[in-house]
Amino acid sequence: MAKATSWSKPASKVLRADGVQVSDLNTSATPGFKGDKRAGEALLAERSVVLSDLQEKLFANGRTGDNRSVLLVLQGMDTAGKGGIVRHVIGSVDPQGVDHASFGVPTAEEKKHHFLWRIRRQLPRPGHIGVFDRSHYEDVLVVRVHELVAPEVWGKRYDEINKFERKLVDDGTTIVKVAMFVSLDEQKKRLMQRLERPDKFWKFNPADIDERAYWPAYQEAYQAVLDRTNTEYAPWHVLPCDSKWYARLAVTELLIDALHGLKLDWPPADFDVEEQKKRLTKG
Ligand code: AMP
Ligand code: MG
Repeated sequence: MAKATSWSKPASKVLRADGVQVSDLNTSATPGFKGDKRAGEALLAERSVVLSDLQEKLFANGRTGDNRSVLLVLQGMDTAGKGGIVRHVIGSVDPQGVDHASFGVPTAEEKKHHFLWRIRRQLPRPGHIGVFDRSHYEDVLVVRVHELVAPEVWGKRYDEINKFERKLVDDGTTIVKVAMFVSLDEQKKRLMQRLERPDKFWKFNPADIDERAYWPAYQEAYQAVLDRTNTEYAPWHVLPCDSKWYARLAVTELLIDALHGLKLDWPPADFDVEEQKKRLTKG
């Protein structure tokens, strides 16, 4: 049976964005993992149990005054598999401990505010795992590519984001940032599948095809994100996503690593256990 040792190097190390060139990425690679799809899926089943246990500990501590949380930021082009991560990785933990948010085109109300306004409203509560399906990074990605605001405006946002994340980390949130990449060809395949399967029509948006023309501009915008917001307190992980099984396994490992870093224990009883046992026996 596949073991955690199937990794030659932990995902949290091998996927670090330091020095990564987006244009050189091999999106079909499975860095650090020695096994094949079958081994990956078997390991995912095992590691999901570990993740779920750790998440329960985080939640238990949150209920007893620990204000820490974990925030998973999923950023990626259409079809990169963000939804699959939510369903297959986050789906293995207790939903009551998850704060999920997805960020689409800003509403009229959201447009009236600073770009971080809607983000702040969706931050994870203490003891929770927050999941962002897209994020504040859209404001330097789609916004930059389509010039939705002036360059002077989006240009300042990288520093604003760093400052914002610094404060979040200082306040007890561990941020796990994952940039998900598929190849242009893989995206074509996945979009075609959405057009061939009635159960996938709902995911298809004709504008996704228009966006393909902007691929190089998006690559450049992603590169700028990695170059300017890959901080030591909130580092980026670059995830090749042509293999869905690998992407799911890797994110599971990243979350396990983040939760291990919190050195969580079960919170001690704030009552006298023996006394309560006696009371219960009498009743
Ligand atoms: P989906 O994730 O498929 O539901 O699509 C959401 C869409 O919202 C994507 O096309 C994003 O690029 C877009 N979007 C997200 N955030 C922003 C933003 N701040 N400004 C403009 N478009 C955005
Ligand atoms: Mg979409």
